[in-house]
Amino acid sequence: MLSFWEKDIFKQNYDILIIGSGFTGLWLASFLKKKSPLLSIAILERGTLPSGASTKNAGFACFGSPSELLQNVQEIGWEKTLEMTSKRYEGIQIIKQNFGKSIDYKPCGASELFSDDDFFEKTTQNLNELNKELSGIVGHPNHFFVDQNIISESQFEGFKFAISNMAEASIHSGKLFYELYKNLVSQDVKFFFGTAVESIEADAKTAKVYTKNLGEFNASHVSICTNAFSNLFLPEQKIKPGRGQVIITKPILNLTFDKTFHFDKGYYYFKNIGNRVLLGGGRNLDFETETTEQFGTTDIILKQLEKYLSNFILPHKNFEIDYAWSGIMAFNEAKTPFSEILKPNLSACVCMNGMGVALAPYLAKELAEMIGNS
Ligand SMILES: Cc1cc2nc3c(=O)[nH]c(=O)nc-3n(C[C@H](O)[C@H](O)[C@H](O)COP(=O)(O)OP(=O)(O)OC[C@H]3O[C@@H](n4cnc5c(N)ncnc54)[C@H](O)[C@@H]3O)c2cc1C
Repeated sequence: MLSFWEKDIFKQNYDILIIGSGFTGLWLASFLKKKSPLLSIAILERGTLPSGASTKNAGFACFGSPSELLQNVQEIGWEKTLEMTSKRYEGIQIIKQNFGKSIDYKPCGASELFSDDDFFEKTTQNLNELNKELSGIVGHPNHFFVDQNIISESQFEGFKFAISNMAEASIHSGKLFYELYKNLVSQDVKFFFGTAVESIEADAKTAKVYTKNLGEFNASHVSICTNAFSNLFLPEQKIKPGRGQVIITKPILNLTFDKTFHFDKGYYYFKNIGNRVLLGGGRNLDFETETTEQFGTTDIILKQLEKYLSNFILPHKNFEIDYAWSGIMAFNEAKTPFSEILKPNLSACVCMNGMGVALAPYLAKELAEMIGNS
């Protein structure tokens, strides 16, 4: 039972209720407040901290490696790929403009590494066309460039070729969460952690959500920002969860690289963070097991990550793995997020297809505009 004091401060009636305290929910609250400072907003989060992808990812502000983008073109065509890439790019500009140094935003650029001659050849054949199409987005005619120096300078083994760009960056995802959170609390946005929403009822006039621990909340508008965990509310979207496992080493002396890296079509990614190597990925080794909403790690993927560290990334160095963790991403057939006003008092912004660091700010801004006009 809530006390008088708790009920007085943590009311259960708001203009806007947002379900999920990941980046999407936080950016949405932030843009709604920017537009209408007097709106009362509460964020309901099932975990004691955000419990999805936002504080579990690798801290990359990326909008697509060349092979990922070319794969997207094959799957969804140029128009949709460029539209998505432009939104990711704009999202990263929003992060940079709003937070920059306070979230360790480092414009270090990114490189895709290749060990297979044929695959590198095939990717470079399409690079001119890709650069031409991207120039309108990034404002630079040669966004991607073949970069052999990085291979020798970094002392990698196994990787023979690299394609780099200077527009991508590294961030501290924990700091991004915390900056957004502090900013929202200072504007009187209420956070209810440990409060899982079990169902939503939205009719023409009001919306209600039901929680196990605190019962019913009422609002003029409810927004679902639950990414991989949205099938409970939006079963027709058929969102597939995808677990990403990550390891981090203990600090290593004299690390020879300071960029963000991708390889194997974006399925693996690594970077230097405080002289430790953070390496994640490997979902493609065991798609079936990794299509899960459950956090956890598996031997098969951890062993592969460790193998890449010792054979490819740190072949000449002694290192120790400090610890591992996982986060849950969301994927769909269309490979594009679902962000819509569903009813005048209900909206959703979900299924970031593994690119929500970049996409969430842009989509949240767009949705905040639509909510204001619905
Ligand atoms: C290992 C890894 C690497 C990644 N790499 C990149 C990258 O390089 N670039 C990039 O752009 N993106 C990357 N991502 C993806 C990115 O982190 C996500 O797309 C983004 O954080 C999604 O944000 P979100 O707010 O939509 O979802 P989430 O962060 O998952 O937040 C959803 C929140 O909703 C809460 N929730 C769910 N159900 C309920 C309920 N019923 N009631 C209350 N709360 C609920 C969850 O607990 C969660 O906190 C990566 C993700 C992982 C895991």
